[in-house]
Amino acid sequence: MFRKTIPIVRSVKVAQAFSGRHASTAASTVQPRICIVGAGPAGFYTAQYILKHLDNSSIDIVEKLPVPFGLVRFGVAPDHPEVKNVINTFTRTAENPRVRFLGNLSLGKDVTLEELRQRYHAVLLTYGAEQDNSLDIPNETLPNVLSAREFVAWYNGLPGFENLNPDLSGKSLTLLGQGNVAVDVARIVLSSVDELKKTDITEYALEILARSKIETVHLVGRRGPLQAAFTIKELREMLKLSTCATEWRADDFEHVEESVPNLPRPRKRITELMLKSMSEQQQGQHVPARARRFQPIFCRSPVNIIGREKVEAVEYVVNRVKDGRAVPTEQRETIATDLVCRSIGYRAVSVDKHINFDERKGCINNAGGRVLKRNLTGSDQTIDDIEDKYEPGLYTSGWLATGPTGVILTTMNSSFGVADLVCRDFKNNVIRMNGSRPGLELSGKPYVSWNGWKAIDTEEVRRGAAKGKPREKLTCVNTMLQIASNATM
Ligand code: FAD
Ligand code: NAP
Repeated sequence: MFRKTIPIVRSVKVAQAFSGRHASTAASTVQPRICIVGAGPAGFYTAQYILKHLDNSSIDIVEKLPVPFGLVRFGVAPDHPEVKNVINTFTRTAENPRVRFLGNLSLGKDVTLEELRQRYHAVLLTYGAEQDNSLDIPNETLPNVLSAREFVAWYNGLPGFENLNPDLSGKSLTLLGQGNVAVDVARIVLSSVDELKKTDITEYALEILARSKIETVHLVGRRGPLQAAFTIKELREMLKLSTCATEWRADDFEHVEESVPNLPRPRKRITELMLKSMSEQQQGQHVPARARRFQPIFCRSPVNIIGREKVEAVEYVVNRVKDGRAVPTEQRETIATDLVCRSIGYRAVSVDKHINFDERKGCINNAGGRVLKRNLTGSDQTIDDIEDKYEPGLYTSGWLATGPTGVILTTMNSSFGVADLVCRDFKNNVIRMNGSRPGLELSGKPYVSWNGWKAIDTEEVRRGAAKGKPREKLTCVNTMLQIASNATM
């Protein structure tokens, strides 16, 4: 393990830090010391921005896992390697001499928020959304009912999920929810294993997928085609899958065609694509020899999971859509299935009792990234005094701040915005620079440094090369720690 000491730069004016639109007004002789909790896109993008706009600031990135990159490593689908190119930018940020990566340290377990706030001038909470929403319907805990989050964590090698062993011995999988996460899971299950084995998908997942008997995947949404949460690129990929035919239900598209001319452009394009695909299906143009089927189903809300020892079917209430909302009717439909994955959104949690957390929304109570005082929520906008309103020096960004929606680009933009606020707060003395801060006390903490991660990375790439894959991810934390501990300076 590598313990890098950051040179303490004294007699530096914070005002120097503000180039361009950050005009200088305040000065300090103390080096701004910042802790970012979570090494996902939000953490790296806020770090990148602060490094650029706040000269002489030093940043510690505290990450729960021994490895960085959050959902870029453990969420993004293995057959989307181009999306993971952001890792190159994150690596440049991590290798800046003013940054330390402190992996294998968890807020709420190894360190407390109070400790961080005492030891840094500013703390940014960017630890993402690690749980998922449940439907709260009967039998959700039956065997063969999983969440998409677990399924994704399994195929992507998140430590702790390697023994999930989803049962793919039945003929059909039902995905409840129609977001891009659900489409990712559908695509991975319906793709050819020959294609997947060239990716960084875990070897144990490949073995189970190779034996899969799943022929049909239902993608069930509570609203109609005009409200589908998946995006056009992801739908196109499904339509192009050589292993699978897409089958729409014509009844779901009643009155859809007549709405098309008035739709905003992105919605118009995706709706036209769905209608085109359905028309090809009706004319028998889709390739009949395809062994697998992808069946989007609209206007169905699951109300009951039916089964004794394991799931056998899902009962739905049939909805109609009024003003964009799902309105239940008296009608019900039951559709047989062998495996259910709910995919109705991830969920952030509070990991420390001092975090002002909105349990209902599943995010930290904040206004534009500034964390609100504990008695305040996002809707309390009446207090003018900044010190009465916000926790001094405490910020949040990414899915923990906004809730679990948005692609990496969305996270980048919101994180740059929060980082800009941090820089301004330093400049305007909203963040008090009353004395230097020591940073985290690391003695006795088995943290993984950036060099430790690089050793893990090298080993993963080596193991992958032997199988013709870009990497074979390590999934055992102890093995990771062992490899990291052998890393040289
Ligand atoms: P995260 O990426 O979750 O990062 C949070 C980090 O905090 C993690 O490293 C975590 O280990 C760490 N952490 C958690 N708890 C603690 C703790 N207590 N102490 C310290 N550290 C902690 N976007 C795209 O643009 N393209 C895609 O193809 C794409 N695919 C996706 C696939 C899936 C399955 C999902 C769920 C999302 C996908 N996204 C995609 C969206 C994208 O991943 C998010 O926008 C982005 O990752 C959010 O970044 P974040 O930093 O807020 O959270
Ligand atoms: P999402 O896009 O918000 O989709 C959630 C789905 O769950 C929606 O269909 C939603 O329906 C449904 N839902 C929510 N609550 C429900 C309930 N109680 N009952 C029934 N259905 C319910 O979330 P996600 O799929 O988890 O994705 C999260 C973010 O990551 C998104 O921004 C997504 O684009 C991004 N992502 C991107 C990619 C990619 O770029 N390839 C891949 C994965 C994820 P309603 O619309 O009716 O609410």
